[in-house]
Amino acid sequence: MILEKFSMEDRTAVITGGARGIGAATAGALGEAGAHVVLTDIDAAAAEATVSALRADGLTAEAAHLDVTDSGAVNALADELNERLGGVDVLVNNAGIAESNVPAEKTSDRHWRRHFDINLDAVFWCARAFGKGMLARGRGSIVNIGSMSGIIANRPQPQSFYNASKAGVHMLTKSLAAEWAARGVRVNAVAPTYINTPLVKAVLAGDPEMTDVWLDMTPSHRIGEPEEVAAVVLFLACDASSLLTGSIVVADGGYTCW
Ligand code: NDP
Repeated sequence: MILEKFSMEDRTAVITGGARGIGAATAGALGEAGAHVVLTDIDAAAAEATVSALRADGLTAEAAHLDVTDSGAVNALADELNERLGGVDVLVNNAGIAESNVPAEKTSDRHWRRHFDINLDAVFWCARAFGKGMLARGRGSIVNIGSMSGIIANRPQPQSFYNASKAGVHMLTKSLAAEWAARGVRVNAVAPTYINTPLVKAVLAGDPEMTDVWLDMTPSHRIGEPEEVAAVVLFLACDASSLLTGSIVVADGGYTCW
């Protein structure tokens, strides 16, 4: 039965940066499909609040503080969850930042490094830590949140640091997928267009006219909703996508067609 393959019953899913935006919507989607969700975020109070909302909806979730740039803390959480919960089935590497609209010639070392620390290095720290447990059990699914910015250079806002970090996420996805495919661990990515989250609202606050350019450049003439990305993550996380590994699934309302 095909719909059974979308079930996440008896699965544990860890989400990074899950307190809001795409991560929170993903927690809802995986929880609704039956997963026990471990919602992590750098903002512990916000993570607790999101978990309370999930529980109020009847879902099973717990919160954990995690700064994904701290590889020691990532390793410790992976060990603790593997021991206490008997393993982690799904990791969603969602935490990310986009402090956009900074021209390349004005980008400081600190700004560049901060984007790579959170958007790319941390994806590796988390995949390495949780992937180890998955490899030991011979099964697991890792979903990285990349971006269409890993494929195209956005207009009109300059953001070379963000685009390069997301292109790195896509290549890391393929590299890990190739290494781990024969050992039961799949690694895929979603590459979304602009999504209606606090992150995008912060970018737009600096230049609301940017929306017009974005919509003009998008065949569907709209930005996406977090739940539309969460649905793709659910597909990649569950057994319905058993043949997919190393895939970068573009969810962009047609943006990259033009
Ligand atoms: P949000 O800013 O809405 O949510 C991201 C969450 O990650 C926040 O709760 C944030 O906490 C948290 N976070 C930030 N730094 C860390 C860290 N070091 N450790 C743990 N958590 C952290 O972002 P979105 O939901 O919009 O984005 C989620 C992912 O999707 C990102 O990887 C982003 O690059 C990607 N993406 C987003 C698109 C969009 O248009 N929104 C388009 C394409 C890709 P805090 O708020 O306290 O900093």
